[in-house]
Formats: sequence, C-alpha cells, structure tokens
Amino acid sequence: MPRAVVTGGAGFLGSHLAEALVGGGYEVVVVDDFSTGRRENLAGLADDPRCTVVEHDVSWGLPVSGPVDAVCHLASPASPPAYLARPLETLAVGSEGTRHALALAHAHGARFLLASTSEIYGDPLVHPQPEDYLGNVSSIGPRSVYDEAKRFAEAITMAYHRTFGLDTKIVRIFNTYGPRMAPGDGRVVTNFIEQALAGSPLTVYGDGTQTRSFCWVDDEVRGLVALLHSDWTGPMNIGNPAEFTVRELAELVREAAGVDVPITFAPLPQDDPTRRRPDITRAGAVLGWRPEVPLREGVERLVAWYRAGRPAPARLPDR
Ligand code: NAD
Ligand code: UDP
Repeated sequence: MPRAVVTGGAGFLGSHLAEALVGGGYEVVVVDDFSTGRRENLAGLADDPRCTVVEHDVSWGLPVSGPVDAVCHLASPASPPAYLARPLETLAVGSEGTRHALALAHAHGARFLLASTSEIYGDPLVHPQPEDYLGNVSSIGPRSVYDEAKRFAEAITMAYHRTFGLDTKIVRIFNTYGPRMAPGDGRVVTNFIEQALAGSPLTVYGDGTQTRSFCWVDDEVRGLVALLHSDWTGPMNIGNPAEFTVRELAELVREAAGVDVPITFAPLPQDDPTRRRPDITRAGAVLGWRPEVPLREGVERLVAWYRAGRPAPARLPDR
C-alpha cells in the first residue's frame, strides 16, 4: 500500500485530500499543528487504521518514520484574517515548512505536491491568469506574508527539482469552498452563508465589483489527486474559471439561503486583488481535468450542509 504524508491534513482541503487518498488505496499520515485545522475534520477517518495523525508544527521539522511515497504539503494559514493574524508563522511554514517537506520527499524519493495559490499572481495585470504569467505582487504589503511565502515555496520546490531531480508538482489553487471550512475563518463564501443564516447583513468589502472564481472542493481535490499522479513537474492552475463579482456572490447566497437580509459595505482590505480567474488550459490538456459543479449548486450544497447543523460558533484564529 503506498504511503502519503499530508501536511495540513486536519484543515479544510487537507482533510478532503486525506479521504480521497485513503479511498484511492493509500495509507495516509496527517501532520498538523491544529492552528486552523480541527480533529473533527478527520472524523470520517478516525477509526481507520490507514490514517494516522501526528500533531506537529512542520516549520520545525517533519517527524515521520517509515516509508513515504508521496508528500502533499498543504500546511499554511489560508484565509486572509488567519494569515494576517499569524504573519511570522505564515512566512515560516511557507519557507522552513516547505524545506522540511521537500527534504522528507527527497530522503524517500517520493513525489512532492505543493499547495500554492492564485495569490502568487497578486493583483493580476493579465486576465485570465495562465501559469506563465509572473504576477503583480507587493513584497511589503500586509498580504505579502502569504503571497511571498508561497512564491518562495514554489522557488525552493523548483530548486529541489533542478538540483536533485525530485518529482515535484505545484498546484496553484484558486478560491475553493465547501464543507469543513473553519467557521469564522473570514473567507467570503462562508462569511456570507454564516451571515445569511444568522439573519445578519452580508458584509461586502469595497463596492463589490472585485471578482473571484470559486471552485467546489470535490472538483479541486480531484484535480490535486490527478496532478499528484501525473508526470507534470511545474505549476498548474486548478480552479473554476467561472468568474463572479463579490456583489453577485452576495446575491447568489441570499437566493440560495432564501433569506432577504440586506447587503452592507465595508472598506476594501489593502492590496485586495481586483480580479482573479484561472486559465485552466494546461489542466485540461495534461490531466483532462475540468470542474463540474457550478457556483449556484455548490452554494446550495453548502447552505444545506450548514442547515444540517454542522458549524460551531464563529471564532477568529488564535495568535
Ligand atoms: P485550512 O486553514 O483549513 O488548512 C490549513 C491546515 O494547515 C490547518 O489544518 C492548519 O492547522 C495547518 N497548519 C498551518 N500551519 C501549520 C504548521 N506550521 N504546521 C502544521 N500544520 C499547520 O486552509 P485550507 O483552505 O484547507 O488550505 C490548505 C492549503 O491550500 C494551504 O496551503 C493554502 O494556502 C492552500 N490554498 C487554499 C485555497 C482555498 O481556497 N481553500 C486557495 C489557495 C491555496
Ligand atoms: N470579502 C467580502 N466580504 C467578506 C469577506 C471577503 O467582500 O465578508 C471579499 C474580499 O475583500 C475579497 C473577496 O471577498 O475581495 C474574496 O475574499 P476571501 O477572503 O474569500 O479570499 P481572497 O481575498 O484570498 O481571494
């Protein structure tokens, strides 16, 4: 049975990836410090001997013994409030954490998958964004702790590939949503749904004309698994190219939740990208991948998941 290490495996995407890998015949070792992730995200694997959990901060090393066939490095704060609250930890996990994950893969001759982000394109001057677009990123603004950490992570990943011939893959994930996003973690889809279900106004930042392209979690994870098993070594966008303004998303959430709450406007965060849409030509050509779940259907599914009683009270990330 192949054995995969998933850093950040107790988080939103990591827990879905861990389940997909176990379902695909892997034994999985989750390494997570539970800074934004939760044990309950792995409840579906709790009694499964094919999944073990190691509580550890990967910025300080990766204490995994035994064989390793794949390392999927997802550990990092991901929502803007989470990484803005933990700027130094975010830089550490993107740099030192990635180095430890690469060293583990190198020691075992394992495949390596880095969870990178559309944020490496910054506030893009090319639209939609293909993988060869180099980005428009502030190296000193508040978001730089995340953007530059991920850019460094990509650089060290390619350096391991060039230096040691490590089998590396870099997935540039565009805004992904679905069950198990941490309640109160501040990302827009869950903020709007939590507000709508509480009967509160939806907080649109800025005038709501900025755009994002939202991918349902199962589509995203299917792309991650396909990329892990491919021969591709560089970056690949995995995201849903259907682009919406934040204002359109607010309307859609109100309709999906069937509530008539007002929309209020709050200041736009500094360096908030004005638009974002993946060019997924490469993922289609190399992996035969494309997303299947439209935003309206995904939001309806997520509203139903919330109504089924899942979320705990909102909380902000601890520092
Ligand atoms: P998440 O916060 O739910 O998961 C991140 C996980 O990493 C959590 O379980 C957290 O406890 C863990 N973690 C953080 N720092 C750690 C450390 N130093 N050591 C060990 N574990 C640590 O976020 P997510 O949305 O699931 O994001 C997962 C990955 O995907 C991140 O690398 C993120 O940058 C990337 N990504 C996500 C999105 C998205 O839309 N969800 C978009 C782009 C990139
Ligand atoms: N946003 C918003 N209201 C919220 C949360 C976010 O209008 O309650 C906006 C945010 O300013 C950004 C977009 O929604 O323009 C996506 O934000 P998110 O934090 O989900 O992801 P990211 O900025 O990393 O794409």
